[in-house]
Amino acid sequence: MGCSTGSARNTVAETAEEANLGFATRCIHHRAHFADPAHSVVEPLYLSTAFDHAGSKIEGGHISNGYDYARCQTPTREVLEDTVCSLEGGDSCVAFSSGMAAIACLFELFAPGDRIVTSWDLYGGTIRLFDAVSRKNGYTIDAVDTSDLDATRAALAGGAACLFVETPTNPTMAVSDIAALAAEAHKAGALLAVDNTFLTPYFQNPLKLGADVVVHSGTKYLNGHNDVLAGFLVSARPDLSEKLRYLSMTTGATLSSFDAWMVTRGLKTLPLRMERHQSNALALAGWLRTAPHVAYVNYPGLADHPGHDLCLRQGSGFGGMITFGTDTPEAARHVLASVKVAVFAESLGGTETLITYPAVQTHADLSEEERQAKGIDACMLRISVGLEDPDDLIADFAQALEGC
Ligand SMILES: *Cc1c(COP(=O)(O)O)cnc(C)c1O
Repeated sequence: MGCSTGSARNTVAETAEEANLGFATRCIHHRAHFADPAHSVVEPLYLSTAFDHAGSKIEGGHISNGYDYARCQTPTREVLEDTVCSLEGGDSCVAFSSGMAAIACLFELFAPGDRIVTSWDLYGGTIRLFDAVSRKNGYTIDAVDTSDLDATRAALAGGAACLFVETPTNPTMAVSDIAALAAEAHKAGALLAVDNTFLTPYFQNPLKLGADVVVHSGTKYLNGHNDVLAGFLVSARPDLSEKLRYLSMTTGATLSSFDAWMVTRGLKTLPLRMERHQSNALALAGWLRTAPHVAYVNYPGLADHPGHDLCLRQGSGFGGMITFGTDTPEAARHVLASVKVAVFAESLGGTETLITYPAVQTHADLSEEERQAKGIDACMLRISVGLEDPDDLIADFAQALEGC
């Protein structure tokens, strides 16, 4: 608790009994992690930014226990951090006001001259952070296709401070081998950071495969309702935990108690939601393959997707994100203008099905050449499949594609 870096780890250590509980139970039960005089079943929401130190000891220039200031920690944020830490199997978790704030904090670990190797295809905001901010800070950043192990090994030769990976990638859905990348990163002296936003700990646990840090946009599936911005860093190593806790409370983009309470609430249904996102995505992807004006469907849940087997080997599912291409740019625009159940909007991972136009939305900041090299063209559409009735989604896309 409090601002001392000695409190880097999640403070209410998981008991052996809790560690043996199943994933869904750990999403729901937090009573061991808060002391509420009213004995409420649901974790209380503490909005106070300051905490009374009466009764605390002052030892060696530090107040020995208790919370002190909300930027550093609040009881409500702590419950959420403990939960996400447990779901990812980490040593510690720090919650941020957005996914980008989490990634920006992670990048405070590095110093001018450090080399960072990243997946070639990443969330557009992450590419913008690396290009517009990190490079200016003196980092060398090299992007590589991390689904190609030999290419990644070659990129890491000569040493690196960090390998930053998304799997599956956004929007091209390439799948990378996390355990193999962890081995290569560690050989090169780099830490492996994996953005686990797309699959969530329900389907994939990068720390258990050897990654050092997991990154999340909690805005997406973890909160799951398109109504909170949040981010997380989960660390597997005590030395990293301490540094990240110190950097987060110093740079200050920590998560508000209200938003933390909302995400804790959202997480209780994570397993149910992820199953439904996936079954809806499988149904929609299978149907899209047979639909008019659809040139290709890119979903790792389809048995002939190049990442299908790897996804199953290193995790337990494929998530709810589909990328597909229309036969003409006009058809793509027609679909965006015609959907009635799906919403033409940015973001992903919520209850509502959203359809995004990567070339002009999430990946608009890339140069035309970069977009072409990644196949992010005017025919590409990305669907975050929501929790609606699958028949309604299929009927919606059928009517939208019919009129092309
Ligand atoms: C949305 C997203 C981010 C950024 O998170 P914000 O919460 O929007 O700041 C990072 N990575 C991935 C994969 C994302 O989808």
